[in-house]
Amino acid sequence: MDSSLLRCHDYDFLVQRWRKIARASGLNMIAFAEAGGFPVWMLTSRCSPEGGAYLSAGIHGDEPAGTEALVRWAESNTSLLRNLPCLIFPCLNPWGLENNSRADEEGHDLNRTFQHNDVPHIQALKIFIKSRRFALALHLHEDYDAHGFYLYELEREEPFWGEELVKIARKLIPIESRTTIDGRKVSKAGLLRRKIDVKKFTAIPEAVYLHLHHTERTFTFETPSEFALDQRVAVQMALIDACIRRV
Ligand SMILES: [Zn+2]
Repeated sequence: MDSSLLRCHDYDFLVQRWRKIARASGLNMIAFAEAGGFPVWMLTSRCSPEGGAYLSAGIHGDEPAGTEALVRWAESNTSLLRNLPCLIFPCLNPWGLENNSRADEEGHDLNRTFQHNDVPHIQALKIFIKSRRFALALHLHEDYDAHGFYLYELEREEPFWGEELVKIARKLIPIESRTTIDGRKVSKAGLLRRKIDVKKFTAIPEAVYLHLHHTERTFTFETPSEFALDQRVAVQMALIDACIRRV
């Protein structure tokens, strides 16, 4: 296994890598808040991120393929990033990443707090994106119950991309075989396409918040955390790449 995979829970190392990317790509790197004693970073394109891509990883700290795939994808695409309108959150739960914990240091699942204004760095994120629109939002997650890869596509713009994305994933990793995930019926193998009815949500995840207020297309990728890390990272990278090239 290569050494950066062995350090996938090392937040300082992750931040160092993003600093290099910022230098090479001209992205602005800003510590916009603190959480659990760590600075929380975002990167924005020099041009306005408006109309571009919102990329987010590490809101669950025990899902390291997301943070690792995002930084690796960025490391190999610094010239593309020079001209891409984008807003990147490399890790929204640094304490969780360091401690291999889904929740933050106070036990909150940050991905269920977007309906509140009382988590300071989530609130800072919401203020920063207020009134901005993005063509695309990607949320990089993992699932320890999964038997293979699957994704959520929040339904709005046709043509849908979900089937194509699952096809790309299938070349790199087995696709989820369960037909019901978290009580919801799978639309097609590996694909949960959902219309959002906000009344059904008592707690709002990041993806749903983005879909409701800021994005045309919203995807959540879920790699199976029991599979090898390099394989999970590879599939997440391939899907980031496929989506960005379509924007
Ligand atoms: Zn997650």
